[in-house]
Amino acid sequence: MSLPPIRYRIEPHRPEAHLFRVSCTVADPDPAGQVFRLPAWIPGSYMIREFARNIVSLRATDEGGAALAVDKLDKHSWRVRPPAGGGAVVVEYEVYAWDLSVRAAHLDRSHGFFNGTSVFLAAEGRRERECLVDILAPQAVAGEAWRVITALPRAEGLAGAAPVHGFGLYRAADYDALVDHPVEMGSFTLAAFEAGGVRHEIALTGRHDCDTGRLCEDLARICAWHIALFGAPAPVDYYAFLTMVVGEGYGGLEHRASTALLASRADLPWKGMEGTPERYQGFLGLCSHEYFHTWNVKRIKPAAFVPYDLAVENYTRLLWAFEGFTSYYDDLALVRSGVIGAGDYLGLLGKTVSNVLRTPGRLRQSVAESSFDAWTKFYRQDENAPNAIVSYYAKGALIALALDLQLRAGSRGEKSLDEVMRLLWQRHGLSGEGVAEDGIFAIVAEVGGPRLGRRLASWLREAVEGTEDLPLAELLARFGVDWKAEAAAKGPVIGAKLAESAGEVRLASVFDAGPAERAGLSAGDVLVAADGLRVTTIAGLEALLARRAAGTRLTLHAFRRDELIACELELAAAPAERITLSLAPRAGAGARALRRGWLGH
Ligand code: ZN
Repeated sequence: MSLPPIRYRIEPHRPEAHLFRVSCTVADPDPAGQVFRLPAWIPGSYMIREFARNIVSLRATDEGGAALAVDKLDKHSWRVRPPAGGGAVVVEYEVYAWDLSVRAAHLDRSHGFFNGTSVFLAAEGRRERECLVDILAPQAVAGEAWRVITALPRAEGLAGAAPVHGFGLYRAADYDALVDHPVEMGSFTLAAFEAGGVRHEIALTGRHDCDTGRLCEDLARICAWHIALFGAPAPVDYYAFLTMVVGEGYGGLEHRASTALLASRADLPWKGMEGTPERYQGFLGLCSHEYFHTWNVKRIKPAAFVPYDLAVENYTRLLWAFEGFTSYYDDLALVRSGVIGAGDYLGLLGKTVSNVLRTPGRLRQSVAESSFDAWTKFYRQDENAPNAIVSYYAKGALIALALDLQLRAGSRGEKSLDEVMRLLWQRHGLSGEGVAEDGIFAIVAEVGGPRLGRRLASWLREAVEGTEDLPLAELLARFGVDWKAEAAAKGPVIGAKLAESAGEVRLASVFDAGPAERAGLSAGDVLVAADGLRVTTIAGLEALLARRAAGTRLTLHAFRRDELIACELELAAAPAERITLSLAPRAGAGARALRRGWLGH
């Protein structure tokens, strides 16, 4: 006998007020009082967000509509006293949806988007139950008819089942599946392609002039490459890219059979576009990143995420592997699938290297610590972040690169990180068994074999637990890649990250032990004059600095709050932290062979 499913209903009730109306019906509530709880965070974005703050009203009834008593237990939990005579419990509530990001929910008269973590209360003790969700059309929306895109399966065979791209009944095997399939509704552009035997769809919401033919062609190559890397068949039979297009925006969140993306209009390809412009490379890299997560983090998971506890922080020291390795493969897939050339790829890689070298915090925090503290540090960066933390994305990607290059060089091109990923997939992805906190080291040791494997496993442990810079220049040289380090600025520097708005230049961050800090300047100070000349733009200040020499003194005037301060600082030489990578023209045959194996060219 199967237990009754949990039934949900969601309606874009008052789009102009950004309100979804949601109900959840439990046919066999807990007799001691049925507890309902909204997640505090969404997997993939490691920060407590307290989505329940957007629930604006909540009431409970029996099936006949008679009110039931509700006790609020904490910030995101409610307990409903069941009807005296037994029977179902219905909670009905409104959710305010006005967060234009990939993490929550957004609703207006042009479209609706939601992650289940923002809108669907979990019925406690019933997380394993099948869920049915009736997605309703808005009652009155001007303009074109709305349709729906989601990787949630349609409830085929049931009364009211949704037609393809339609409103109606959808189903999920359990609560975790329900909240892992975001939903977009509206009059989006829809394009489709096939890759690796899987139907893929991309929906573009918002105004755009995208050449969807070109986009599908490129994505098809990238997706096919990922599927081939892990080995067919793909773990999904359908995949959706839900893309919100805006003037300026960037974001992506992975799900088990789809991704939610936020992209700038200018990042998309246009009809007649030549080559693969840098901004478009960035968008393809984002799609590639989220797609790789279909394997790495959605199925190969840290043990700490099996299962997710959506009420509190879930700590793991492994995000360098789940985000960092994914960040390595996102751009690598572009070159290996032939969507961009080796030169373009090295350009992207050089930027990642420069980003890490620009961050003094890399010498203070390891990527394992950065992973563990993601909840309070990486996701909640303040003005001191460059001094205090390292990105487990960017440095994690460089660790993946260094590991890949060492596996290849140490085995004459016979082994690579690809095999590490495949073994992780076979051991942990297919089985659903989480990766232990030291599990990646063991897999690397196994793939590398007795000598190389043991050496690289201990190298990897030091790389992720330590704060030393990686030997990338030497490793890349063995692959016929030249490394050029130069200063990003023409002149000396004041040791601060600057931000400019409305004719004001502000210190966004002050680097640890740099000239600005030694002179007593702080983040937030507004620079008004340098050597007695007014400062209104960053370019203007840089032009002035370009005419000065390191070691000379500069007088700065700045406002802290409304108080004017004057100081003198000693200019420092700009550090050589801009790294440019290029194909070495005179690489030897061995280096060229390794490079071909690595980049596929
Ligand atoms: Zn990611």
